[in-house]
Amino acid sequence: MAFRIPRGTVDLMPGEVEKWQYVESKARELCRRYHFSEIRTPIFEHTELFQRGVGETTDIVEKEMYTFTDRGDRSLTLRPEGTAGVVRSFVEKKVFGQPQPTKWYYIGPMFRYERPQAGRQRQFHQFGVEVFGTEEPAMDAEIIDLGVQFYQSLGLTGVKVELNSVGCPQCRPVHREQLVKFLTPRKDELCKDCQSRLDRNPMRILDCKNERCKELTQDAPKMVDCLCDECRTHFDAVKEYLDVLGVDYVLNPRLVRGLDYYTRTAFEFTVESKGSQAGTVGGGGRYNGLVKEIGGDDVPGIGFGIGIERTLLALEEQEVTLPIDYGVDCYLVTLGEEAKRQSVTLLKALRQAGCSAERDYLDRKMKGQMKAADRAQARYVAILGENELKANSIVVKELATGEQETIALDQFVDYVREGSRK
Ligand SMILES: [Zn+2]
Ligand SMILES: [Zn+2]
Repeated sequence: MAFRIPRGTVDLMPGEVEKWQYVESKARELCRRYHFSEIRTPIFEHTELFQRGVGETTDIVEKEMYTFTDRGDRSLTLRPEGTAGVVRSFVEKKVFGQPQPTKWYYIGPMFRYERPQAGRQRQFHQFGVEVFGTEEPAMDAEIIDLGVQFYQSLGLTGVKVELNSVGCPQCRPVHREQLVKFLTPRKDELCKDCQSRLDRNPMRILDCKNERCKELTQDAPKMVDCLCDECRTHFDAVKEYLDVLGVDYVLNPRLVRGLDYYTRTAFEFTVESKGSQAGTVGGGGRYNGLVKEIGGDDVPGIGFGIGIERTLLALEEQEVTLPIDYGVDCYLVTLGEEAKRQSVTLLKALRQAGCSAERDYLDRKMKGQMKAADRAQARYVAILGENELKANSIVVKELATGEQETIALDQFVDYVREGSRK
């Protein structure tokens, strides 16, 4: 029998994985500049954490989790998103007792049982940030800007910030009441999911993807019109800071995070994708009630999650070429047994000097070795034969230009190193 990769997963092969490394390195570098520290939490957690931290009434928890019972009869779940585990750690390690804010980021795989399609896998990957311990609106704006900077650093253009405020436990019931009043006479026309949302989580009806539901909620009461004074002031300040930072945004009253512990700022990053349909490449918001929900003190939080697959897909659609060097600095071609013996030390010297270096291991003839050097996209090919050995020299050829020089053997490593830096 032949084994196949599980549906909704991919092998990241050499040639592709370099793009991932590049994207991840950009994320790490930005986080360093914004003074975030990396946190790595396990890829599985107790199921209840996600039920509490993501919400029982969400599609994720109702339909999409990879949940299993382990040999100790515990219910565990492969993390469907990054925030819950990070909050669990923040609470469990009592980090809330330390001076705040706490600024963390993560990069890693997440798991959801969904219908696989372009940019959507069952094992997918997210870059996310979380900040705990401040309600300061400047932080909301900075987080959004960090997301924008990330896309820009990759060369992605046309990324749009969609922004909303979902209020707080004081003002949201006002909106909820208006919304239910507005939707109840239209209940029969809503999709099945939304009919059940009407009782349990009416706000989520606003971001239903069903066309009919979208139409029906066109003139529905908006959360932003129901904000209490504190939420209004906070939202205005976030918008002001975004202006100061030069971040463009559009207000989207449909953008909701329908759970009680999501508060105030909600945002999404979208990009025009093929078929002129805006694709969401990331999103986030405030969750001032989540830390308490998970068992900690009443500490506010805010964060985002950015989909790496979707970001790469958007880059591909925009035909952005990432500046990745796939080649090896030097390929060592040897002729004769003595040269082959010497090549081992030369390779080691190159590698210790910080260069990438390769040679032939299949006893290929000169021509075959040159072909291999081409395949390795070598910057330099160094040729060591009997004549060179006698003269304590080596021939170095730059493949791109065809320029060739004979170098003293003791200068060779420096020559390649200097050249590779150019
Ligand atoms: Zn409020
Ligand atoms: Zn619906």
